[in-house]
Amino acid sequence: MNALAATSRNFKQAARLLGLDSKLEKSLLIPFREIKVECTIPKDDGSLVSYVGFRVQHDNARGPMKGGIRYHPELVLKLRSLQSPLQYVIIGVFPIIAYIRTRSVESGLLQNLVDPDEVNALAQLMTWKTAVANIPYGGAKGGIGCAPGELSISELERLTRVFTQKIHDLIGTHTDVPAPDMGTNSQTMAWMLDEYSKFHGYSPAVVTGKPVDLGGSLGRDAATGRGVLFATEALLREHGKSISGQRFVIQGFGNVGSWAAQLIYENGGKVVAVSDISGAIKNSKGIDVPSLLKHTIEKRGVKGFNGADPIDANSILVEDCDVLIPAALGGVINRENANGIRAKFIIEAANHPTDPEADEILSKKGVVILPDILANSGGVTVSYFEWVQNIQGFMWEEEKVNNELKTYMTNGFKDVKEMCQTHNCDLRMGAFTLGVNRVARATVLRGWEA
Ligand code: GLU
Repeated sequence: MNALAATSRNFKQAARLLGLDSKLEKSLLIPFREIKVECTIPKDDGSLVSYVGFRVQHDNARGPMKGGIRYHPELVLKLRSLQSPLQYVIIGVFPIIAYIRTRSVESGLLQNLVDPDEVNALAQLMTWKTAVANIPYGGAKGGIGCAPGELSISELERLTRVFTQKIHDLIGTHTDVPAPDMGTNSQTMAWMLDEYSKFHGYSPAVVTGKPVDLGGSLGRDAATGRGVLFATEALLREHGKSISGQRFVIQGFGNVGSWAAQLIYENGGKVVAVSDISGAIKNSKGIDVPSLLKHTIEKRGVKGFNGADPIDANSILVEDCDVLIPAALGGVINRENANGIRAKFIIEAANHPTDPEADEILSKKGVVILPDILANSGGVTVSYFEWVQNIQGFMWEEEKVNNELKTYMTNGFKDVKEMCQTHNCDLRMGAFTLGVNRVARATVLRGWEA
């Protein structure tokens, strides 16, 4: 199921449980603003290349809109970019022509689109996520359809600056505050801050996830992974278990997956399998995560790590374990593989990794899912701490950041559980009803008068 359809379906189910007025429901679903901009840059070889950038600002009832900027080539969208119905007929009748057409898309003739539906879904999820975390923000998400690994540092800098030039009037400390996401990092935020400041004067709180030297918060880099740890601890505690003694499988070893793995390892959990774009590895006795981290930095991937055996990357989600942590792309757990999943708990470190159809299958199997809008809210929560520090002009100690994060994650879990009891629902609906209710209340309080 398409990401937007899946997210909207969860939202509508929550709206029904809450008995929301249908006009309010509609207004909460429609994004506040969708921005699409063309970003043309000279490549290092002098040729010109155009990319499409997006920023979807979903809702601002509870505060400035907040969410990451993603640089990622969305192949699915590229296929969807074959817009004429005739082309779909051609696909059906002449697979070879379709193949050539698809190759031309992949090879760059129609390159660099990003899926607006995907960005839209992610922006909506941010609205509910910030509300679940109880931080004073709305939701937004942006992205550029590009393969960051194929661009040089100076090309990435030019692209980020052009994108910022195109959206600078629509973002701001009190309107919309971007942050890193997949394919972007603190350096991307430093370029955005610099470009934005050329138009508006030095404004450190316009983006979060910055380098610490530019007003970034201590602990922000690890925050999503650390939040995953705190949320997992809260869930396991409720089931009479703790991190130590549990066997974990982690799909995705980028910023979130690798921090989660390290913190789980430090807390006595056994990481038995890990995958990333380079491949997948397994060691039933437990992977030595610090050595794996060293290996991935040197070899740019988990592949070839000599403390584990290689396994088929497609089988990572169905590996035997107690806790499965999808920490990469959305939609990876679907009706094709849900039946094969052997974990008792799924912690959604990625955004929307579980399709609603898979949700149903897993719930029948008794698998407990900790939903994304709670499980991965540690990143945006420490982004909030960073924004607060920038506005105060006062830097917190890392210990304070981590302690506050623990409080927010634990409270989020407790608030979600209360909603589960009130509405007799699972954790996903508990989180959605909590988030949607908070946003609905703020919307009504602010009023409708034009
Ligand atoms: N990209 C992260 C997320 O999906 C963090 C967003 C932020 O810090 O604003 O939650």
